Amino acid sequence: MDKYGILKKYFGYPDFREGQELLIDSILQGRDVLGIMPTGAGKSICYQVPALLLPGITLVISPLISLMKDQVQALNQAGVHAAYINSSLSESQISRALRLAAAGQYKIIYVAPERLETYEFLQFALQVDISMLTVDEAHCISQWGQDFRPGYLKIIQFIRRLKRRPVISAFTATATEKVKEDIACVLGLIQPQVLVTGFDRKNLYFAVETPPKKDVFVMQYVKEHQEDSGIIYCATRKNVETVCEKLRAQGIAAVKYHAGLGNEERRQNQEDFIYDVCPVMVATNAFGMGIDKSNVRYVIHYNMPQSMENYYQEAGRAGRDAERSECILLYSAQDVAVNRYLIENKEQNPEHTWEEIEQIRERDEERLRAMTYYCMTTGCLREYILRYFGEIGHGRCENCRNCAREYEETDVTQAAGKIISGIIECRQRYGINVTAGMLAGESRAKLREYGVSEYESYGSLKELRETEIKTIIQQMLTEGLLTTSNDKYAILKVTAEADAVLRGNRPVIWKRPKAQMNQNTERRTSSARLRKSDILNSKGLELFDRLRALRTEIAREESMPPYIIFSDKTLVDMCVRAPLEKREMMQVTGVGENKYKRYGERFLAVIADYTGGVRQKYYFGDEAAAVAQTAAGQKNRVQKGKEADFYLTNEQAQAFPFAEKYLVVELAEKLNELRDADMVKKISGAEIFRRVQEKGYAGEKMEDGIRKKYVTRTGQESGLFLGMRLSKKGTEYEDIYYNEKAQEMIVAWMKKE
Ligand code: ADP
Repeated sequence: MDKYGILKKYFGYPDFREGQELLIDSILQGRDVLGIMPTGAGKSICYQVPALLLPGITLVISPLISLMKDQVQALNQAGVHAAYINSSLSESQISRALRLAAAGQYKIIYVAPERLETYEFLQFALQVDISMLTVDEAHCISQWGQDFRPGYLKIIQFIRRLKRRPVISAFTATATEKVKEDIACVLGLIQPQVLVTGFDRKNLYFAVETPPKKDVFVMQYVKEHQEDSGIIYCATRKNVETVCEKLRAQGIAAVKYHAGLGNEERRQNQEDFIYDVCPVMVATNAFGMGIDKSNVRYVIHYNMPQSMENYYQEAGRAGRDAERSECILLYSAQDVAVNRYLIENKEQNPEHTWEEIEQIRERDEERLRAMTYYCMTTGCLREYILRYFGEIGHGRCENCRNCAREYEETDVTQAAGKIISGIIECRQRYGINVTAGMLAGESRAKLREYGVSEYESYGSLKELRETEIKTIIQQMLTEGLLTTSNDKYAILKVTAEADAVLRGNRPVIWKRPKAQMNQNTERRTSSARLRKSDILNSKGLELFDRLRALRTEIAREESMPPYIIFSDKTLVDMCVRAPLEKREMMQVTGVGENKYKRYGERFLAVIADYTGGVRQKYYFGDEAAAVAQTAAGQKNRVQKGKEADFYLTNEQAQAFPFAEKYLVVELAEKLNELRDADMVKKISGAEIFRRVQEKGYAGEKMEDGIRKKYVTRTGQESGLFLGMRLSKKGTEYEDIYYNEKAQEMIVAWMKKE
């Protein structure tokens, strides 16, 4: 059997996802691999498929007991003989497992790194044929990361002791260069095939909300998503207790998890959550490592975490099954203060020198700042995340809160000028609080202590509220007009670019979300898109409920989490195809041979009963689209409904109101008015400009510290030209205009063939 056969037979998938095949082929050719892929991308398949094709055993080193258990359960369900060996087993269980393993009973064995050193394990390893050694969560090897595991350093010694070096495959979701280097070096990978897939988790929708009452927001959200499983992360145990209590008072089956609970209670709550007995988990960040629950539909952060690293890891626990899921961060200014306090009072490693402690503190401060900017930015949230992790040039994603939000633009160039002058007048000595307080003309004790009322700038922005001044400062930081010192004081500094603002050459536009009252409706539209009800009609949903009931029944019988039996995606696909016989059932995504043998007939029976043997249409639209929506690979996904990228039909394009000249934002506005708003996403001015740049018609360059747009020769020939534009406050600056010819060209780009 070849790799495709294995993929279908054991895992029930028709096709590989991006990158999987490359790694599998390399392994099969005997070449080491390093796969850096985000959570949910499908790393396990990359070593499990070759493990089944290689002659000997595959050892998988994994740091977490719960993760091992989950993986082994899933493999056995799929009909692959696998076992784990870790401290959750007794000595005699371990000996038995090793005996069976030596007798060739298992193809894949998960083992904790500490185990490699033991005499018994080594004896076993020397007896058997080990074809591959897989290092999961390989970043644990790096002392730079937060999850360093000393046990991982033992792996290489273990490999050296083996009679024959097996092929080594390493996997992680952490992408920094340092970690990547560490993995390759410490594991001694030989010319590895490295694959870094993008960090983007396309199925996740990101949002930052600042509700006046976080509790109210959470209650409403959870109620609106009663069918779904979700995690609510809180910064403190106390918050966990109160939020969980309130949810329960509303009749919601929520459980809690934090370090203050006893072991047994924690274990029980975790299990109730994983087994879908209680769909909502309220927890501190102590919860989640090694939780592989694939159908978490939302992760809400009740408080802002300390870093983007933490945030992306925690939020990333949503949607591991690649289904649409939401990551919502509830921000309040107080979160920053709490985190700063936590950083300042963090327990220090006694082995660190004073300098190292200072370095770590600075790094933490820096991370907290980046996290805070995430909460403040009015730009695309996904773009922000990806940039933070070193990926550039994605542009707007149209699948985050900020891209969906409409903004009001106010020219605040003058205020920005006063902020810059104020900072300079104070000789760049203060952070955001003192600066904003000084400009607003406040008179707090601390401000008096610094004597800020002596400055000319004192109260120069008193027409604004202090919070408004802070928001403008935050925006100026994101735009690079200001920066902060790299220490815990985060002193505001003026950059070279700020000069252009003072000279009136650069406008500063403050983007504010339009009406706050739209928040809920917008959110609802975006979350409504996630649901299976977009694919299945009412009859389909009824069938889904029946299949789900069967899945729960089987899960109880077998003491397995339901998602290990079949994922939601598999059930939806079953409803779309409504198979009546084995051959048809085998085409459902996620139904492999073994799963069919175990459960296929029971599911067929429910479908036969429901349909009476006559298949009807249980989905919206045409079958091909419905099948594609539930189908395996992300790459096969069709965009449906509201998610389709911007396009115009011929008729719509003909209705375009051509004019003598438009700015790019005006062009976008006119185009958006023509589109079918229910089906098609908006296009932004930035996106149009990106395409214009891509085709070489125009670009941006820095000149004397000012960002300037320019038009190329072909751009001019196509009807683009530079013209002066007046900001609301009367400052002039250059921008690109598009004449009728250029408008025709751009409208043509937008037409769907
Ligand atoms: P990771 O370890 O990268 O976080 P997993 O290996 O847990 O991701 O895979 C995430 C989900 O994607 C699982 O439900 C897995 O079964 C599914 N999956 C992996 N590869 C494929 C594929 N080729 N086709 C369809 N589903 C896949």
